[in-house]
Amino acid sequence: MPVQWLHRFKMKIIIGLVVMLGLSMGLTMLFVMNITRDSLLADSADNTVQLGKAISSGLRCSMLNRSPERIQETLDKIGQSGQVSRIFILNRQGRVDFSSDRSDIGKKYERTADATCRGCHLSTSTIPAQHTIKLAGDGGDVFRNISVIYNEEPCFGCHPQNIKINGKLIIDHPLTETYRLIHKIGLIMVVAGLACLVLLVPFMSRMINRYIDQIVLKNSEINLVYSIMNSISKTIDMDELKNIVLDIVSDALTAEEVDLVLPNGQSGYRIVTRTATGEKYQRKKLNRDDPLGLIVERWCEGSVLQYEYSLDRTEVYLPIRKGDSRLALIAVRCKNHPLAEDKLQLIEAICNHIAIAFENARLYSMAITDELTGIYTVRHFRTCIDRQMILFDTYGEKFSLLMIDIDNFKKVNDTYGHPTGDAVLRKVAHCIAESVRVDDLAFRYGGEEFAVILPATALSGGVNVAERIRSRIEAANIIDNGHRIAATVSVGLAVCPDNSLTVKDLILQADKSLYAAKHGGKNCVKTSQSMGT
Ligand code: GH3
Ligand code: MG
Ligand code: MG
Repeated sequence: MPVQWLHRFKMKIIIGLVVMLGLSMGLTMLFVMNITRDSLLADSADNTVQLGKAISSGLRCSMLNRSPERIQETLDKIGQSGQVSRIFILNRQGRVDFSSDRSDIGKKYERTADATCRGCHLSTSTIPAQHTIKLAGDGGDVFRNISVIYNEEPCFGCHPQNIKINGKLIIDHPLTETYRLIHKIGLIMVVAGLACLVLLVPFMSRMINRYIDQIVLKNSEINLVYSIMNSISKTIDMDELKNIVLDIVSDALTAEEVDLVLPNGQSGYRIVTRTATGEKYQRKKLNRDDPLGLIVERWCEGSVLQYEYSLDRTEVYLPIRKGDSRLALIAVRCKNHPLAEDKLQLIEAICNHIAIAFENARLYSMAITDELTGIYTVRHFRTCIDRQMILFDTYGEKFSLLMIDIDNFKKVNDTYGHPTGDAVLRKVAHCIAESVRVDDLAFRYGGEEFAVILPATALSGGVNVAERIRSRIEAANIIDNGHRIAATVSVGLAVCPDNSLTVKDLILQADKSLYAAKHGGKNCVKTSQSMGT
């Protein structure tokens, strides 16, 4: 999974979340602002009413004292206090009798014509329906409080009794402060909201990054497991599998050194080691001073059943088992750092697959190995020689085929018995295997006949190997059951392409050479070229 895709996905998530949060915060703020504005305006309206009540009761005393100067003085003072933008008293005719703004005195308000009057006077006849209304004034919005000065008993000296009202006290209370407060609260909410978003984005980004890291890690682990399983399942050849397992364990755990311990016989073992540079070598037997020696000894006894650590966790031992059978033990050493737990779990998880691969390789090895002699079977011979012929057809690589037959073997059986005959067969096979290179392949072709494929080997090289085998067997000291047996072999050699271009014919040519060797007195090597000699 590409990391860029995940980061693009992260950006989409963040943008989506920011939009959603922004929208929901915006709506919430709008709602809260509305409530706040309404309550602040309601507060202002209340204050205006209270102010109106306080002032009107104060003025009534001045009115009763019939002191117009005091009334005007009081309005002047209230106007100067800055609490109101204007305060004035209208008489019954709608004319201004007193005002904090003296230029207003005498001004006539028409309830039908004046826009500020129409807010209260819904029709020409109605008196103000409410005490406080909001108006758009010249210097900004105001709350206008209208207090009706009723014609009460104490006033009857000046005013006839049938008059209902003496006039109206009008106070314009400015809303500038209230609006400033509303704007301030709004600004704080917006700034706080934006700050939340700004802080939230890096936080969300970090959080999502953490998930992305985990996804990437898991993804790389899955890829690693996949590639490991893929490479393990590529082969059933034990030697190849050993190399693959050493490489993958070493790479996955960035190990200094990896040892692969394999069973050898009932209680023995073989060890292949891979160094940090990738070099591989067979290790000698371990002594008990070596920490690996102890664990291998316990593993051979069958008492290492699950993975074990060294105290500093720089070494781990992973037994590879199938049921009760010990298939291998992997020892990993990381000199400079303790082994990471997650990586170990990963390796542990693939141990089962490694076990299956080893089991398959073991079964395959059994299938292609002759039980008596330990060299390859005739069935495997056919696979190998076909493969060799394909290599010749593709790359033109020459190769030689040796057919080897033990001389007078019947006599050995007849003289010393079959078990001794078997011992001779084992020894001859051993001599053959010892006489060839790593890339050469030795097979038990039939009863006491053997075949050897020598890749990239022409006639002279083939004769050399055949002669080496013959002389080694001749010189071998075969002792069985107190009998010393002198065995010799006859060898027939054929070369591809010199003698043949098909497998069947090549085998025939090698057989013919072998036949010639038998007729030439045995214990010798014959080739198609030397058959006449
Ligand atoms: P020559 O030199 O002409 O090859 O003579 P030879 O006695 O070797 O003759 P031949 O190749 O015919 O004999 C093969 C003998 O090998 C016959 C058989 O009893 C014996 N043989 C085949 N397989 C085995 C085996 O697995 N074990 C033992 N002990 N003998 C075997
Ligand atoms: Mg024979
Ligand atoms: Mg024979």
